[in-house]
Amino acid sequence: MKTFDAIIVGAGHNGLVTAAMLAKAGKSVLVLERRNVVGGICVTEELQPGIKVNSLVSGGFLRPDITKNLDLARQGLPNTPEKSGLVSLLPAGGRLRLSNNVRETAEAILPFSKKDADKWPDFVAFMNKAVGFLEMAYHTGMPRLPKFSVAEGIPLALLGLKLRGMGARDMYTTIRLLPMTAREFLDEWFESDALKAAIASLGIHNANLGVMSAGSAYNLLHQFMLRGGWGQPYASAEIGNISVALERAARQHGAEIRLQAEVSRILVKDNQAVGVVLASEEQILANQVVSCLDPKRTFQSLLEPELLDPEFGWNVRNIKMRGISAKIHLVVDEMELGADTLVLAPSLNYLERAYDAAKYGQISEQPYMEITKSGQVVSIHLQYAPYKLKGAAWDENMRQKIGSLAVDALEAHFPGIKPKVRFQKVITPLDMDETYFQTEGDINHGQLMLEQFFFMRPIPGWSNHRTPVSGLFLCGSGVHGGGGVSGISGRNAAEQILRG
Ligand SMILES: Cc1cc2nc3c(=O)[nH]c(=O)nc-3n(C[C@H](O)[C@H](O)[C@H](O)COP(=O)(O)OP(=O)(O)OC[C@H]3O[C@@H](n4cnc5c(N)ncnc54)[C@H](O)[C@@H]3O)c2cc1C
Repeated sequence: MKTFDAIIVGAGHNGLVTAAMLAKAGKSVLVLERRNVVGGICVTEELQPGIKVNSLVSGGFLRPDITKNLDLARQGLPNTPEKSGLVSLLPAGGRLRLSNNVRETAEAILPFSKKDADKWPDFVAFMNKAVGFLEMAYHTGMPRLPKFSVAEGIPLALLGLKLRGMGARDMYTTIRLLPMTAREFLDEWFESDALKAAIASLGIHNANLGVMSAGSAYNLLHQFMLRGGWGQPYASAEIGNISVALERAARQHGAEIRLQAEVSRILVKDNQAVGVVLASEEQILANQVVSCLDPKRTFQSLLEPELLDPEFGWNVRNIKMRGISAKIHLVVDEMELGADTLVLAPSLNYLERAYDAAKYGQISEQPYMEITKSGQVVSIHLQYAPYKLKGAAWDENMRQKIGSLAVDALEAHFPGIKPKVRFQKVITPLDMDETYFQTEGDINHGQLMLEQFFFMRPIPGWSNHRTPVSGLFLCGSGVHGGGGVSGISGRNAAEQILRG
């Protein structure tokens, strides 16, 4: 029987990045994917005959070094995606548009506050510097504290130098930002509530946090980095192109990819991963196994429980998975909503009240929504829709309720759109778990919160893609640098494996 150098479990975009990079380095690689399509969450699928949508993700893009390293331009993926703007929907038909054009955005802010318009260029300059630091931090292996080697120390020292190089003021602002609430962070910059709310919406996007929760400023920075600015890249039914380009690159470098191949167990011998068993009972051997599944699913469903020591198992159980969003696709006749990403985040209090519901296991009656469009389809990312509902279940009634909430909220800003909706599909947090294998509907493979970031992601002491089982690695979004469409954790895992 052939023994592969590496088996990648799951063809999510991170798994494909790892596969392509390992194959490019000359390794024999097999990718095993449970579904009949590659990309995991980073996928574009048919909603109705002839109508395609990004099923789940509003947008995202691969880090440019990955695109370049794997020469994805040759596979038809542009080096840098087009950037759209973010338009905040305000009461009485008001609009505020933020874009990567600093001058235009300052002009758009002017009617709200002259002071804020004047500050805008400084704010954007700071955010871009802070993103530079975050990008580097995500590319720096975190030490397995309290262990610490000289080899780990050098990249960390370089990261420290990067921080120092920002200048004293921006360095402190970046450090202070991480534990702050999005509201407090933005209060230090601006006075317009509409502006602060539009920006703060990034701080709660995909997170079980409110704009007044500690750590929402960190998520704001993370989301800003993922988008490369304000609007969502690849929002128009194109996100799947990323996965298709990665699949092609992996295959061209010699990787094999098998679809409808569900892994049911990782084979371990003398604490060394030696292969996998498929649901069909087929065994496949490999020197290394790399899981693109979230850490909880990897350790709790693919490994025999007795293989992990109790403390590690306890830490895995405590990883916070807290699905909080639903996706609604509407096929709408004759509509013109423009090309920008739209956001329903009219005020900081509105956003915080939306979060209040989630604290009690309820759906927000007045939700935060991010709206993208593709052809006739309006796609809505809606929060908060907790995976764990109090006193209710994700049944057909709840599905209808979420759909109606989204359509009514849209109608309030685009009068007349409701009767034009001729098809609706709602993806609940339960669907995200059951169909797309996001444990508890947590779309980042584990919440992006302060106790689960940097050297504590996925669990303290194990942020370097390795696991207590030799030869078993993690490459999905649940590890350091992950959460979102970026390819960061897949790239970092491949680099770690190739370092040996
Ligand atoms: C609703 C939603 C909205 C989002 N919005 C954004 C956004 O706007 N911007 C952004 O950047 N990110 C967003 N994200 C997050 C982002 O999409 C994910 O963090 C990222 O795509 C995860 O990629 P991955 O490769 O790490 O894992 P996944 O995409 O989860 O891939 C894991 C793969 O493993 C497969 N698999 C599972 N079990 C098995 C098994 N037993 N055997 C074989 N294969 C298996 C799955 O089918 C899947 O293909 C969103 C996610 C969701 C769900």
